[in-house]
Amino acid sequence: MKALIIGAGPSGLTSAVLLAEQGWQVTVLEQHAIPGGLLQRFRRGPYWFDTGFHFITGGGPGGPFRPLAERLGILDRIQFLPHDLERQFRIHLPDGGAVDLPAGLTECEAACCRYWPELAAGIARFFAELRAGLKAKPWLAMLVPDDTPPATIDPDLPVSEVLDRCGVNGLAKEVIGCLAGILAMKPERTPMGLYATFAGTSIAGSCRAENGGEAIITPLVERLKELGGTLLLNRGVASIEFTEREVTAVVDVKGSRHTADLYLATCHPAEVLRLTGPGGMRPSLEEKIATTPDSASVVLVYAGLTQPPEALGRSHHFARIHGDEDLYYLAPSNFETACDHPYLEAMVWVPGEAVAHWRDTKKGKRPDDYEAWKRRWEQDILNEITTRHPTIAGTIGRVWSSTPLSVHDYVRSRNGGAMGLSHDVGHIGTDPMPRRSRLKNLFFAGQSIGHPGVLGAMIDGFVMAGAIVGKDLANLDSRPEVRKSGSFGMPPKVS
Ligand SMILES: Cc1cc2nc3c(=O)[nH]c(=O)nc-3n(C[C@H](O)[C@H](O)[C@H](O)COP(=O)(O)OP(=O)(O)OC[C@H]3O[C@@H](n4cnc5c(N)ncnc54)[C@H](O)[C@@H]3O)c2cc1C
Repeated sequence: MKALIIGAGPSGLTSAVLLAEQGWQVTVLEQHAIPGGLLQRFRRGPYWFDTGFHFITGGGPGGPFRPLAERLGILDRIQFLPHDLERQFRIHLPDGGAVDLPAGLTECEAACCRYWPELAAGIARFFAELRAGLKAKPWLAMLVPDDTPPATIDPDLPVSEVLDRCGVNGLAKEVIGCLAGILAMKPERTPMGLYATFAGTSIAGSCRAENGGEAIITPLVERLKELGGTLLLNRGVASIEFTEREVTAVVDVKGSRHTADLYLATCHPAEVLRLTGPGGMRPSLEEKIATTPDSASVVLVYAGLTQPPEALGRSHHFARIHGDEDLYYLAPSNFETACDHPYLEAMVWVPGEAVAHWRDTKKGKRPDDYEAWKRRWEQDILNEITTRHPTIAGTIGRVWSSTPLSVHDYVRSRNGGAMGLSHDVGHIGTDPMPRRSRLKNLFFAGQSIGHPGVLGAMIDGFVMAGAIVGKDLANLDSRPEVRKSGSFGMPPKVS
């Protein structure tokens, strides 16, 4: 059997490896020159920067990422890096103070109770809901005890409301809620079940790895090649050809036609719609894709430094900028074992519409007002960081930045959506996108369909490949159960 996969992000490469392992002839077509999708890395002078990799949620020892990586045959090729267990997350407060959240669900709960003893009962209740959210996901249940009781609050409710119902308010609510920002979401719009999957797995223990996103992508590509699979770069799919019932071929930008028994599209669903043109999907699905908003996009600032930014430690920092926008920053070089070129990365989630005015301009030829807009963001973000960490102020050398236009260029995500389609309450969070449409051999996968994040995208790859071959490829205790919401999506039946 032959499979053709559109997109060499973590989801596409995971499915590719698993299908190749099962004896399928697999070809992955990637539009970009670098594999990895949002996990691709790029170099500026002596510095390496990451596009969309900052930490692996659930990547700590005992977390779900490691058995999946082992199952894929890449675990021993990844060099995990230690982070500050006591201060995994440092949340900066408007008054200049900070709250430090340690790694580990028990440790984090205890720290929250120490900061806000008057809310201890509510915090315990909230963490019980969080554990229940993890327990409800077969892929993540390993993080909590077997006898974890089920949720008592609807996991489709926004995390801010769950905090309210548990009696967690004020600063505690803000601090715990702000972790929704890990995947570009706001607590008022993040379904509790989804919050459990990425904030819960992060609290339980996240990690970084040597070489950032490449730590995962390079071994996946190597493994695919070892298994006889093919990855073609600079081979964006330009169109999908189909008959009344099925896809007959995809045509790449160089005009080559590729045929297969099964086609798996891991790009943004709007891109699939563009590739089929009208008639490739049921009208109801076309409408759903058109009317579901995109997730937030991002302005990312990369700064080369003349000295290691010791003040940032090996923590992930969360703060606010411009009043209520979420700012996240870290010094990747502080985590690395040997790094002669210290640097920091900082990002703010922004709507893709922020750059709508310049969307038709070409890379390298953007107008001055766009460049000025970028410079303002760079300045504001770096000012915010140096105000909190004055020792960094005199050490900033060269600065680069990327915007929603860059995200679109890297992965063709509509409007530069960092996590593809919005997973907010009322959108995919509670009403998942179907995995197939009219054409019986075309399937949708990737972060818009399953869950965003490195772990979510990899699990999506397991779900898809497992459904295609009809086996539990993850070899975890149970198959992913199919739930109406908050699950990793309905595995399709493939005849
Ligand atoms: C700024 C930022 C920071 C992030 N930080 C983290 C983090 O710290 N931890 C975490 O877990 N997650 C993080 N994420 C999220 C994570 O990167 C994504 O959820 C994940 O990469 C999604 O994987 P995917 O395979 O579904 O999609 P993608 O990575 O988007 O891959 C899709 C692939 O399809 C290709 N493609 C698109 N159109 C075509 C076409 N026509 N033909 C051929 N190929 C095509 C794209 O080029 C791309 O390679 C971050 C994301 C962003 C943007």
